[in-house]
Amino acid sequence: MVAFDDNGKIDILGLLPDELESEILKLGEKKFRAGQIFDWLHVKRVSSFDEMTNLSVQLRNLLNEKFCLKSLFVSKKLESHTDNTVKYLYELEDGNHVESVIMEYNYGNTICVSTQVGCKMGCRFCASTIAGFKRDLTSSEILGQIYASERDSGRKISGVVLMGIGEPMDNFDNVVNFLEVLSCPKGFNMSLRHVSVSTCGIVPRIYELAEKKLGITLSISLHACRYYFKVTGRRISFEYALIDGHNDSMEDARELAELLGGFVCHVNIIPVNKIKERNYHSDRKSANRFRGYLEKLGINATVRRTLGADIDAACGQLRREYEI
Ligand code: SAH
Repeated sequence: MVAFDDNGKIDILGLLPDELESEILKLGEKKFRAGQIFDWLHVKRVSSFDEMTNLSVQLRNLLNEKFCLKSLFVSKKLESHTDNTVKYLYELEDGNHVESVIMEYNYGNTICVSTQVGCKMGCRFCASTIAGFKRDLTSSEILGQIYASERDSGRKISGVVLMGIGEPMDNFDNVVNFLEVLSCPKGFNMSLRHVSVSTCGIVPRIYELAEKKLGITLSISLHACRYYFKVTGRRISFEYALIDGHNDSMEDARELAELLGGFVCHVNIIPVNKIKERNYHSDRKSANRFRGYLEKLGINATVRRTLGADIDAACGQLRREYEI
């Protein structure tokens, strides 16, 4: 996607190979230069045009003039003592902050990335929304979280979940562009089978996403959408944030089972993490009990592992701490 920064420069990390090619041709350069630049950006991961040493100084100067290559700065890094979870607070070039979390599973490292600075959705239990919404992230800022986290941690990322700060379906074009760039065979080459997009249920955007047939897993926080399964044939995972005394009873399980009846799905129960602005809590025991209720009702369910609870690794918690 061709997007410009405040100085009228093209955000180069958001360009797909053919888009980069046409921009490079416009500069009067040969086509193969675009391939070299794409490789510097997405495979070698340089942080400036001057590091692209197989290009002439003249071309590097031209790139500096026409394009911008934005970086993210590690403002804070927290490492869990109980598992290998690492949480980053990143500062963006305009001084805003977002969070990313690397979680280790037996099949590899998964990163949770943010898609917006703040959030408009207003979920009561979520820290990301408390201070409201500031702006969308560009696709390069979403991608930048992965590149910066791999660089800092030295760990290879093999899965991505869009479950950090923000509502991905409220930043649709940037999120789709991010997924397209991320999965480029000549770039990061991420299989979109290993990517989950989480949404609180912006239904028109779910229809649009289905049409893109990207092969990602759609994780729905609480809401249902049969169309997605019909079009893509992919089982939907429902993320159910469990709060003691609010939605953890047998009656709640029955209502949920009724809503999901006949649906090819899976419920992932998330014991809600405490945020200090709200008095909601839950633990593994109540989550397992709720899972038992659902299973009795024929609904496939798991309890999400609580990784990084000792480092405030839930949506927006670190940014809240930092900005107060
Ligand atoms: N806006 C998107 C993605 C961000 S939230 C969405 O709603 O899906 C990602 C997940 O984190 C959601 O499933 C949400 O229910 C969960 N979440 C938010 N705050 C939480 C908290 N305090 N404890 C546990 N899970 C939380």
